[in-house]
Amino acid sequence: MLHGSNVMLVRRPITPGAPALFLDRDGVVNIDTGYLSDPENVTLRDGAATMIAAFNAAAWPVIIVSNQSGLGRGYFDLCTMLAVQERIEALLLNEGAYVNAVFLCGAAPDDASSLSEWRKPAPGMLTTAGLLYDIDLTRSVLVGDKISDMQAAAAAGLPRGFLVNDCFVADIQTVPIPVHTVDHLADISPSSLLS
Ligand SMILES: [Mg+2]
Repeated sequence: MLHGSNVMLVRRPITPGAPALFLDRDGVVNIDTGYLSDPENVTLRDGAATMIAAFNAAAWPVIIVSNQSGLGRGYFDLCTMLAVQERIEALLLNEGAYVNAVFLCGAAPDDASSLSEWRKPAPGMLTTAGLLYDIDLTRSVLVGDKISDMQAAAAAGLPRGFLVNDCFVADIQTVPIPVHTVDHLADISPSSLLS
């Protein structure tokens, strides 16, 4: 039995026509503990709030795009998934940072339904956000910790991606867009993207 569902949460207004900062969640915004299912276990990654606040200040929409296959696998339920998400956003707010929207794909890897169109490396979460909010995907960027994040960015038409996990550096050449490796999240800012 499949338990999956896809969820979109709208948190703040988004100005049409702007580029967005797309963020993978687990391993980028918060430490990835594997199928995170307890709000008490959420820890933000160093620099995540600083990075997000810089984009908030520059009026870039910040949008989380996260595979949550633990839902489809039956490891946790929808309420738990949302409680974890709310905890992450509460911790960000404590540090003066917010997200504008959240896309969560709860499809399991073997889900052949249309839910899987949102599951990275497919670009569905990014392209849906692009259509809904008239986001300029050609100027948007994504920060992720897996090659599947970079592949989703490329498939959505983003010009480049940022990879915060150097375990996958050897696979960068399989991605058809430039992928920049990042040691510190706080180094990613709207002004750094101009260079
Ligand atoms: Mg991740």
